[in-house]
Parts: sequence; C-alpha cells; structure tokens
Amino acid sequence: MRVLAFLDGSLADSGAAHLRVDDLGLLRGDGVFETILVADKKPRELRPHLDRLARSAAMLDLPAPDLAGFERAARAVIDGWQGGREIALKLVYTRGVDGDPAGTPTAFALGVEVDAKVLRAREDGVSVVTLERGFGPDVAEHAPWLLLGSKSISYAVNMAALREAARRGAQDVIFTATDGSVLEGPTSTVILAKDRTLYTPPSTIGILPGTTQYALFRGAEKAGWNVKVEPLAATDLARGDGVFLASSVRLVTRVHTLDGVALPDSTAVHQELAAIYESEYSG
Ligand code: PLP
Repeated sequence: MRVLAFLDGSLADSGAAHLRVDDLGLLRGDGVFETILVADKKPRELRPHLDRLARSAAMLDLPAPDLAGFERAARAVIDGWQGGREIALKLVYTRGVDGDPAGTPTAFALGVEVDAKVLRAREDGVSVVTLERGFGPDVAEHAPWLLLGSKSISYAVNMAALREAARRGAQDVIFTATDGSVLEGPTSTVILAKDRTLYTPPSTIGILPGTTQYALFRGAEKAGWNVKVEPLAATDLARGDGVFLASSVRLVTRVHTLDGVALPDSTAVHQELAAIYESEYSG
C-alpha cells in the first residue's frame, strides 16, 4: 500500500511517474525530507517534524517550505490510507528541476507500509557495529557546508554504512567521531540508559536532533528518570544498563550486541522505555 499526495491536498497514483529526470533531488541528492510515524491515523510529533524540515531546508538554502501545504498533503495521505494501522509517512522537498529559472521546489508526501525488518527489530532488538564517520565533533560548527545535522536526502553514505554492518554480520551502525565520541546511527539517535538516567549526544556535534529521542526524554522525565544531553564516549556504551537506537518508525529499539559482544540484558529497561514512549501518545 502506497499513498501519494501533493501540497494542494490532491492524491495521485503512486505507481505512476511524477518526477522529471532532471530533478536536482534525483541528480544530486539536493533536497531534504522527513519520515513520520502515523499510528491509528494520528501523525506523531508532526510539528517538530515540520519545523525540522524547515530547518533542514534553510541549511541547504532552499526556499522556505510551505508547511501548511505539507500538513495538507500529510492529511490527504492519512485520509486516503487503507493499509495497516501504521504508516511511514515521508515528506520530500527538493531543489526542483535543473535550470528552472523560477527555482520551484519539488514537494510531496508519500505514505508507505512499515518495513518488516523494522517491525522485527522493534521486538528482537539489533546487533550493531561502531563505524567511524571520519571527522571530529567540532566540524559541524566551522564547516556548515557539510550540512551535518540536516535531514538531506543524500543518504547514500548512511546506506553504505548499513551494508558494511551487514558484511560484518550486524544489522545497524553507531557512527563515531575521530575522538571516539558517539555520533548517531545512519537513521537513528543513540540513547544510553545508566542508573536511571538517559543520555544522548548533543546535536551541536553534527548530528540530527531526533524527534523520537526528544519525545522519549520528555516522557522519561515525567516518569522520574533523569535525562542528559551531553557527549558520550563509545567506550561508555558497554558500561550502562542499555543502549537504544531511536527513530520515528523504529521507535526505541534495543541494541543487544555491540561490535560482536553481547551487552548486558536490557529487556526490562527496554520495556519500560517503550511504555513511556507510547504513553506520550495514548489518550
Ligand atoms: N539521525 C538520523 C541520521 C536519522 O536519519 C534519523 C531518522 O531517520 C534520526 C537520527 C532520528 O530522528 P527521528 O527520531 O526524528 O526520526
């Protein structure tokens, strides 16, 4: 099941061609996107996702996106959806057609089913390897053209890292900086639980600020956990009560194995955090 909508709220055939071959999103990966979880017709963290889309667009010097239009397209996808209870809803915004004097961006919303691998990982957890990203934690501040911390559609490197993980017998990746600090996953935020405190690295080190991590920390604080946004060393990960990868569609996924070594069993912590996260959306 796939549902495609444009910013005027119109639905279109998701199996038909709509993009031009000279779209700069296609030719250069020049654009930004968001992936939002919709559960029971309700989009989660819609406003933070829209705000992040606008922030990413500004980092790429794209025109400010029509957020009301994106919201309209999102609603059209949700209303037109006849698949399962969850939708992975993508908002896509590219620089548009090469050489277009008007510079009109390409923009659409696409709802797809949640991948079976993701559903399995939610239940079973994942095995993860650390891979270096090749720069220090201070590069984002002095090299903004690297677009670190934007959700640009240039995810070829992130996908290559996942294939490298598969070659090493793992399912996911935690990127590290040259000083050994923890960055993020290719499509997730890293969270460490230790002594009733949740830790995640700050986005200033060149990572995407995660909406799922933010929602989890919000709920965890209400439930009596401490939360800290501060640099983490990769060597800290094995010394806590649990390591988790968080993102909109995977939710809070447990890491059971890190660099080939089984981590202490974090099933109970995972259950508690998953329940806290869900409680943000019940009622
Ligand atoms: N970091 C990266 C690089 C991502 O691609 C994602 C989501 O896909 C995240 C973090 C988590 O963000 P969110 O929780 O908003 O989905």
